[in-house]
Amino acid sequence: MASETVDDGEQTITIKEYLNEVEEEELEADLVLGGDEGKECTYTKGYMKRQAIFSCLTCTPEGNAGVCTACSLSCHDSHEIVELWTKRNFKCDCGNSKFGEFFCKLFPSKDVENVDNLYNHNFKGLYCTCNRPYPDPDVEEQVEMIQCCMCEDWFHEEHIGLESSNEIPRDEEGEPLYEDFICNACSAVCSFLSLYPPTMWAAVVQHSGSTNTKKDKDVMQDIPSACGSEKPENGICSGSSPKKDDLMADTKSESLSGGKGFDTGESSEKKVGSNKDDISHTKCLLGENLVSDIPILPSKPLFLSKNWRDILCRCEKCLDMYNQKHIGYLVDKEDSIAEYEKTAKQKREEKLQQQEGSELSFLDKLGHVEKMEILNGIADMKDEFRTFLESFDPSNAVTSADVHQIFENLAKKRRRVE
Ligand SMILES: [Zn+2]
Ligand SMILES: [Zn+2]
Ligand SMILES: [Zn+2]
Ligand SMILES: [Zn+2]
Ligand SMILES: [Zn+2]
Ligand SMILES: [Zn+2]
Repeated sequence: MASETVDDGEQTITIKEYLNEVEEEELEADLVLGGDEGKECTYTKGYMKRQAIFSCLTCTPEGNAGVCTACSLSCHDSHEIVELWTKRNFKCDCGNSKFGEFFCKLFPSKDVENVDNLYNHNFKGLYCTCNRPYPDPDVEEQVEMIQCCMCEDWFHEEHIGLESSNEIPRDEEGEPLYEDFICNACSAVCSFLSLYPPTMWAAVVQHSGSTNTKKDKDVMQDIPSACGSEKPENGICSGSSPKKDDLMADTKSESLSGGKGFDTGESSEKKVGSNKDDISHTKCLLGENLVSDIPILPSKPLFLSKNWRDILCRCEKCLDMYNQKHIGYLVDKEDSIAEYEKTAKQKREEKLQQQEGSELSFLDKLGHVEKMEILNGIADMKDEFRTFLESFDPSNAVTSADVHQIFENLAKKRRRVE
């Protein structure tokens, strides 16, 4: 048996690589589940700030219901399940009126409907403006999608309205430099963001105006269009004052390309938002009358910097505006994915420590000799396994005879010791 690796084009990985992979997958799963053990239906916790949600296409093919982790495992085992990652402000629907005769095994006494739950085409297993499933059976190579932090839909990079995906702020390794993404449609709801300094935006090489404005009108109708005078540096309103009629007619507004736009990220550290103390003050970070002075901009995909939510003004006027727009969650720390994952990581650490703890306490109960026996046994097993792997030709499959041989060798070793 040759010990050197024969490169026959087959993918082979070492045990270490394999274990790392398993660990990574476990971490990923834990991050999505947010420390939920998946044992109890989360219905009793009410509308949770954020939780992993699943849709069952077997029970509710219309995509008008979502269930919690525990229900997806216990009640919808072997059903056709769509993983929706996490959703905000959601209450488990399992077994309610949407499920007909079907009863929840974990918590059957639910209200007929959860009126505050929001559903989109994700619940039918469809994503993005192109309305495709993921993974897409018609596509050979699946590409990762980006989630909008407002509507929580997922988007293909090439469908978010950018001319090139190079405009997405990413480092050289392709890791995102932005904390949140806001899709075209949702950007219309938060054009007030344009009043904030460049620190709000994740730095990108270049931003150009998008051409999609179709959804602006309803949202923006009652907002006057003049630009405020106190924010010349943000560039967006520095040139012209787009009127709301222009918005519908002129999709490539000069107001975007005319100014410095979002392209630098650090060129002008200015008073708004850069001073954390401002946040707690009742004075609006955006100036006196800015809430009524929000410029109207064509929709465009937005990439927000790390901690952008902390920068958002919490004055009474702004809070009112968020509530009117039903986006109050933006100033709720627990809403953000970053925060959710932070909590999930903490719970994971605790869980791992507990596991380690219970292994140790098992050993503690044993006498010294027994302890050494077990530890030696593990070491022997590892040794034998390593020897086997080192001598193993990776182009061959492991057979039961091989495994048998390992244990045989181990047994011989033991006999020698005794
Ligand atoms: Zn449930
Ligand atoms: Zn089901
Ligand atoms: Zn259930
Ligand atoms: Zn798409
Ligand atoms: Zn969106
Ligand atoms: Zn304010």
